[in-house]
Amino acid sequence: MSLYSSLKRWIPRSLQMRWESELRWLSYQLGYKGSQFKCPVCQANLRTFIQLGSGDLLCPACGSLPRNRRLWILLQEMIHPGIQILHFSPSRPLRRKLEKWQGISYTSSDYASEFPADKQLDITQIDEPDNTFDLIICFHVLEHISEDRKALSELYRILKPGGKCLIQTPFKSGEIYENASITSPSDRLKHFGQEDHVRIYSAEGLAKRARDAGFKVEILRFSDSRNNELGLKESEEVLVFKK
Ligand SMILES: [Zn+2]
Repeated sequence: MSLYSSLKRWIPRSLQMRWESELRWLSYQLGYKGSQFKCPVCQANLRTFIQLGSGDLLCPACGSLPRNRRLWILLQEMIHPGIQILHFSPSRPLRRKLEKWQGISYTSSDYASEFPADKQLDITQIDEPDNTFDLIICFHVLEHISEDRKALSELYRILKPGGKCLIQTPFKSGEIYENASITSPSDRLKHFGQEDHVRIYSAEGLAKRARDAGFKVEILRFSDSRNNELGLKESEEVLVFKK
């Protein structure tokens, strides 16, 4: 059990969510300070990341995952004063940082209301005017959406000309794998890797769908050494949809 989980056991359930970041920071101070690794999101210097059952490396100080850290590094180059950002299903560590970023307009949305967010937008029918956002972040959302073509055309509609969407899902090689007759949670887990996923994309397959919706698409491919200092995935893809 991680130190964070142990600390959490002493806190009433109703307060665990509210004190999440403080508890993580305390567990970091007590057990994870070091110099071998560094989290680019919270800047903590670490002796180790926490290895999860999935193999992902969790930052003990802020709770970021490798994909959150990759996204955060990308955002440093893209965010400028006055930018209007819409963030679907934000991870908590990134939402906290972006809400504090001075001089930008930041809107978060979580349709399932699993996490605190500004709005509860339906991505297949987004309640926002045309040409509104400079940057839309949509990580690990589309693989949950049955009508993904509708979602893609909605993203295109609300993006400003010259704007960008940053997109990631779990990716496989080859073609997109989907089958609308697979609907039970157990079958979805077996076929798509998670009980609430409705397909597995390939980066190329999703890029093609985005082009059909009007976007220009760039596929960013990253590779990092094993046990790299920032705890990033050894290989990872992010799609940039441009209008
Ligand atoms: Zn961190």
